Amino acid sequence: MKKMVLEIDNLKVSFFNSNGEVQAVRGVTFGVNEGEILGIVGESGSGKSVTSMSILRLLAESAKLKEGSIKFEGKELTTLTKKEMQSIRGKDISMIFQDPMSSLNPLHTIGNQVAEMIAVHNTNLSKKEVKQRVLQLFEKIRIPEPEKRYNMYPHQFSGGMRQRIMIAIALANAPRLLIADEPTTALDVTIQDQILKLLRDLQKDSNTSIVFITHDLGVVAELCHRVVVLYGGLVMEEGLVDDIFENPKHPYTLGLMASMPEVNQDKSIRLQSIKGSPPDMTNPPLGCPFAPRCNYARKMCAAELPPYVEVGNKHRSMCWLLTQGAPSEHNPFK
Ligand code: SF4
Repeated sequence: MKKMVLEIDNLKVSFFNSNGEVQAVRGVTFGVNEGEILGIVGESGSGKSVTSMSILRLLAESAKLKEGSIKFEGKELTTLTKKEMQSIRGKDISMIFQDPMSSLNPLHTIGNQVAEMIAVHNTNLSKKEVKQRVLQLFEKIRIPEPEKRYNMYPHQFSGGMRQRIMIAIALANAPRLLIADEPTTALDVTIQDQILKLLRDLQKDSNTSIVFITHDLGVVAELCHRVVVLYGGLVMEEGLVDDIFENPKHPYTLGLMASMPEVNQDKSIRLQSIKGSPPDMTNPPLGCPFAPRCNYARKMCAAELPPYVEVGNKHRSMCWLLTQGAPSEHNPFK
């Protein structure tokens, strides 16, 4: 059996502002196996980025981790001191952010920025050895002419190349867990494809576990082994990618899939969007958070939160339509 690298259990995170408490994450549970690529998919405000920032304890000051556990290789992260957390961040667990331009320092050369990440966690290495490692990394992530690029500044790189540098920084210390928060969203489709291929190759070569956060189910299909669908700060559905695509068991997942363009699709057919907007998390719904937008909602959906129902191998979904005794009329799952 594969080792669990990350275990998140009943995570609850809120933000406190002048409007009160924003319940961004309301009890999220999932795990990541060694060498696995887990996709976390959801719209803005679903809680996906807050969940990932919680793992690295990079939440804003206004945020509070209210409840739950986050374990990395069996070690509880939520109770570590700042110093202990710093020694894990960038070394054992690292992150690739969405916008490389705002993550890279425009005043320092690319080479120095990658070198700094290596030097901080490897104080025994000489300057020459650190530079050598940077150049090896550049080759690994397919940066052409590594020596020349070492002394260049971020503005001299294209968007795709900058994202490769962010990947180099994230991989600088061979982390066992890599969190990628929408790393391809700002890139055009061809470059996106190259970055996904690079991540897939890196994962295969080094057996790194990856948590890939995205709003795009197409990217999940291309890259991930397993997927967690988040909505309203809760896991709506979780399963192996093949199972979720072949046999989705949640109306929200069905909606996401209907809004995905297909190759060779007739251009005259309009893609379907999910009507309505995500719930107000200052006052989250009592029942199913998707109820106001769900085509199959019934009276009880808004009244009470549905339970998780196991619908297959490692496949679970939170929907009243899957429970015993649910009516079969107008039920896409019966
Ligand atoms: Fe729709 Fe009800 Fe299922 Fe929620 S519980 S997804 S509202 S059918």
